Amino acid sequence: MSSSAARVVVVGSFNVDHVWHSPALPRPGETLQGEYRSGPGGKGFNQVVAAARAGAQTAFVCALGDDAGGALARQLADTDGIDLQDLRSGSPTGTAGIYVDDDGRNCIVIGAGANADLSADFVSARAGAIGGARIVLAQLESPVESVLEAMRLARAAGVRTLLNPAPANAECPRELLAVADVVTPNETEFTTLLSRHAHEEVDADSLVALDDARLHRLCRTLLPRGTVVVTLGAAGCFVSHREDKTRGDARDHYRVAAERVEPIDTTGAGDAFNGALAASMARDAEAPFQAHVRYATRYAALSTEREGAAAAMPAQGDMERRFAGR
Ligand code: AMP
Repeated sequence: MSSSAARVVVVGSFNVDHVWHSPALPRPGETLQGEYRSGPGGKGFNQVVAAARAGAQTAFVCALGDDAGGALARQLADTDGIDLQDLRSGSPTGTAGIYVDDDGRNCIVIGAGANADLSADFVSARAGAIGGARIVLAQLESPVESVLEAMRLARAAGVRTLLNPAPANAECPRELLAVADVVTPNETEFTTLLSRHAHEEVDADSLVALDDARLHRLCRTLLPRGTVVVTLGAAGCFVSHREDKTRGDARDHYRVAAERVEPIDTTGAGDAFNGALAASMARDAEAPFQAHVRYATRYAALSTEREGAAAAMPAQGDMERRFAGR
């Protein structure tokens, strides 16, 4: 399958992640010793790196500070062949302070910095890149009006839109859902959206055990016209399409099991899934949606076998070696 024509435009965030690993999480007033590492992150950047390494030609619309973090983003985008279309902000580049304990639990504080300055006007000026894409992918770590602008421009140009409604506490108005062809919440994001937009109270922890018909109905309530992919961590994902007679006998809802791996760090698994899904959809618009989901499922699983977020995204060669002949 040739990837030369595939084009994915990601609109989103870049953060420098500062990660401290200690046996326990600090309590208020407490000082602990821990191991430190830093690296690139931000949902937008993680997803565009995944899409690029999964073989798509990519562009990344974002906002960066005029500082070391911004320089890091430029250098890394260059390494992965990502066409960086960045607003130069007077604010510092986005940062995330992350504490992780021995059980893998974490506490995170994000300083949006430059990410908050990504304006709808700047996105609007990228209409050419957006209109020339096959897939536009966005998340909610950027101002909602800018995400909405990107999705509307894509829609107007007949480009397919993919919305990862993360993080769960971000604003995600109905009008934004309405311009998404595919929405990919995790369990928490899905139940939050259901509560806000459908007045359905469902416990995120019990979602995986719900029967498929009920899950499908909930997805339809949330996004009557689009496709919903609820990612369920190690349990894989649930896919719900609207009823479409032209899809022949393909089912309108189904589960895809996760790939069996030995995860060492599941940070960024959702980002890996979204970037790979976008790359696969851009590569072959005619393939059944389930094939894209299977590819994304494998890609996300492989990403959990390495530490870090953007840095852990597998290359196409890694995928071929790992899943050869399957
Ligand atoms: P999540 O955002 O945690 O729902 O994860 C997104 C996707 O990554 C899931 O739908 C799985 O395909 C994959 N994934 C996450 N955690 C694991 C795991 N422990 N083992 C295998 N695949 C995983």
